[in-house]
Amino acid sequence: MDLNKVAKWSRILVLVGLLIWVTYESYMHQVLGGGKAPSIHALCPYGALESLYTLLLTGSFIKKIYSGTVVLLVLTVALAVLFRRSFCGLLCPFGALQEVFAKLGQKIFKKRFIIPQKIDQIFRYLKYVVLVLTVGMAWYYGSLWMAPYDPYAAFSHISVISSSIEEDPLVIFGFILLFITVAGSFFYDRFFCKYLCPAGAFYAIIAKISPTKIERNDSLCIHCKKCDKSCPVNIEIEKEERITTAECINCNDCVLACPVKGALEVKVARKTVHPIVMVILVVGLFFGTIGIAQLTDNFQILPLAVAQGEVIPIYEVKGYNTIEEATTLTGLTLEEVYQQLAIPKSVPKETQFKQISALVPEYSFDQAKANAGGSEAEGAASTPGTIDVSGIKGSMTIQEAMDSLSMASKDFYALFKIPETVPPQTILKEIVNLSPGYDFQQIKDELSVSASTEAPENTSGTVDVSAIKGSMTIQEAMDSLSMEAKEFYVLFKIPETVPPQTILKEIVNISPGYDFQQIKDSLQ
Ligand code: SF4
Ligand code: SF4
Repeated sequence: MDLNKVAKWSRILVLVGLLIWVTYESYMHQVLGGGKAPSIHALCPYGALESLYTLLLTGSFIKKIYSGTVVLLVLTVALAVLFRRSFCGLLCPFGALQEVFAKLGQKIFKKRFIIPQKIDQIFRYLKYVVLVLTVGMAWYYGSLWMAPYDPYAAFSHISVISSSIEEDPLVIFGFILLFITVAGSFFYDRFFCKYLCPAGAFYAIIAKISPTKIERNDSLCIHCKKCDKSCPVNIEIEKEERITTAECINCNDCVLACPVKGALEVKVARKTVHPIVMVILVVGLFFGTIGIAQLTDNFQILPLAVAQGEVIPIYEVKGYNTIEEATTLTGLTLEEVYQQLAIPKSVPKETQFKQISALVPEYSFDQAKANAGGSEAEGAASTPGTIDVSGIKGSMTIQEAMDSLSMASKDFYALFKIPETVPPQTILKEIVNLSPGYDFQQIKDELSVSASTEAPENTSGTVDVSAIKGSMTIQEAMDSLSMEAKEFYVLFKIPETVPPQTILKEIVNISPGYDFQQIKDSLQ
């Protein structure tokens, strides 16, 4: 058996297999939604690097990143320490995508193009700039800052290009970069890896300490330059005795191309290792560790399902949920879900929320959730009277404060009027440094005052509720009393999930046990 051929095809099969699998998962993610198929961010170890600061500081992950992503990061770092950039050469699906297009390009043009060395050398530093920029911004903002510009993320959204751009026009940059990557790969092997990939730059830095090297035996070498011609990242192997450059992706194509036995070898701690053994070691370590992490329940790549018996507010259902699923998630009846999210009756219950607008163009899921107490965050802001903020200190981080109040991030940000761009690891009294004019103490004082003055028993004496009829909607009643939503909801003890267009005497349909007349009587 020709072990060289086995090694060559094993690497290709692993790479193409992973590319097909990631493409499939990305497609399913679009079809089924984030709760059922992982996003590309959860599957890419670089996402965990972007989440690292938040993780170390607050113990939580940034959105779309899970424990499985961290396992992938730790694993790929270990691979880089042991076997250089073997993740790039043997496992990365985006590297595989580039190889596929490079092979097509070479078939068409019958040659491998090479960028002039001077330009090439300068451009190779770009990826380190991208590394510093993307990790810095992600750590600063506590989010996947580079997601809209990420060509790999764009690749995973290729089946939904137009809706992705509609959702966030910045993703156009990601699609442009994807096009540049694919077009560039036609002419130049591993175009993105060489010049732009921040993950590759990260592994390249770590690979510097690895004991794995390619070594050329000058006394056996016949200087045919077959190694140089086979190298996808254009390293001049024939000129060196040891390949120590951080650019080497450990694909071992050069070793397999060498016609003289022993002239070019992979060495790990000076011991010769055949490329097929390298493939087995890297792939075995990678999938073996993932398997162990899965068996021990440490490989989460999807959001946790809502525990049985638990319910979530209607405004927390996701676009990928169907209307029918929302009944289980929220504990509401189907009729209540339709009513609270103002879904036209003609929409079938099997429809995902994000697809309703395809059937009813004027329908906005986000707006419906906001009306139901969601993203515009009246949810939290409307009930300060029910939240005791006295335990929140200026020395706490936003995350600590959220945890101590057990509040969702969007509710807390709305309640404390914190701009969305402020990362959760920011200390509350230091928000002013990021958002000039922000006064934490003043906002806290206002919330404390409203908490103490808005309790129904305190306000009932000053508000004449006799004109409020059960046939009015909440909005009409608020208008007639000229009251803010937050005051009215607290005064009439209306759960925050009830939308303002609900008729007062019908609140009981949404919130069983609610008795409008009894509450009104107690206020008179
Ligand atoms: S450089 Fe980046 S895209 Fe290329 S193989 Fe490595 S991680 Fe993948
Ligand atoms: S030097 Fe050899 S192992 Fe390294 S990238 Fe080039 S061909 Fe692959």
